Amino acid sequence: MILKGFNELKVFLEKPRSIVIVGHRNPDGDAMGSTLALKHYLDKKGHNCTVVVPNEYPEFLHWLPGSETTFRFDWQNNQSQKAINRSDIIFLLDFNALHRVGSDMQNTLEKYPKDFAMIDHHQQPDDVKYMYSDVTICSTCQMVYQFIEMNNDLDLIDADIATCLYTGIMTDTGSFRFRSTTSTTHRIIAALIDKGAKNDKIHNNVYDANSYNRLLLLGQALSNLQILPSYKTAYITLTSEEKKRFDFQKGDTEGVVNYALSLKGIILAAIFIEDNEQKNIKISFRSKGSFSVNKFSRNHFNGGGHDNAAGGKSSDSMSETVTKFVTLLPQYKKELETSYEN
Ligand code: 5GP
Ligand code: MN
Repeated sequence: MILKGFNELKVFLEKPRSIVIVGHRNPDGDAMGSTLALKHYLDKKGHNCTVVVPNEYPEFLHWLPGSETTFRFDWQNNQSQKAINRSDIIFLLDFNALHRVGSDMQNTLEKYPKDFAMIDHHQQPDDVKYMYSDVTICSTCQMVYQFIEMNNDLDLIDADIATCLYTGIMTDTGSFRFRSTTSTTHRIIAALIDKGAKNDKIHNNVYDANSYNRLLLLGQALSNLQILPSYKTAYITLTSEEKKRFDFQKGDTEGVVNYALSLKGIILAAIFIEDNEQKNIKISFRSKGSFSVNKFSRNHFNGGGHDNAAGGKSSDSMSETVTKFVTLLPQYKKELETSYEN
């Protein structure tokens, strides 16, 4: 755990400040939940906060309280730049390095003359002035709860803050089932329900909001699934053509990789998704046990993340990328065999 400049930050926040809060590109439940929760909390403390997200986020997160106040850097560039220019500090939430916001926004943030404060749970964080980094914590939302607790402000948590925090903890823990879920996580979740988070509604809003096309795309993904039993590995591919056929919308492929990991005996799962806009293949890796997909992705696919959940990318074609992946597996055979014992 790294806690750097916390007391100094506390003093800095004694005066009302203009604050920008940023999450990573392709924001997920934890990025949206943590940035909005921190905004609600700091606004209540007398600050003036703006959440700026790099790009579009899934429809199933649009109901989050405060979502309508966010600026999107890619298509509300003027408003976003203005908010950044007039801010006294920028909070970086749920990411560890500036390149994670995408190159346009990264350029702007790199020129920022004032200080950054990072709250994040990814490995190998960049060094910024104020830091709260802990790779053992399941979600940035749990860290925001603990940040509020460190400030002795738990009383300020209302239903909106509780709802945002619950959502990010829920999505980053796969609904409280991944290894990172601890008794502390459950205690915090209980407290958030007491503060007004409606757990059944949140699960419904996030997980039971599928379009028919999204289910058809999932059907396509499952029929593309390949299993490599000798490496305890399964992977899924989705081409741009397939995405188009089922009217792909942002967020439609979220969680699909977990179906590959749900196969009995599989401990490494990957999904390769063609992205014609970015002209690359976006990859998600998931693992069980000691096999670190963070290391694997860092070493081979320009990515990273956590030990059991990481992302990456490839500028090769789909078939070249898949071939590269499959060709790498023999050198990890031993690690894959021993990664997860029941
Ligand atoms: P996902 O596969 O859901 O996109 O990402 C899994 C986890 O890895 C998330 O915590 C995400 O923030 C992180 N992640 C995804 N892509 C990258 C990447 O390119 N670099 C790093 N460092 N982390 C990533
Ligand atoms: Mn997260």
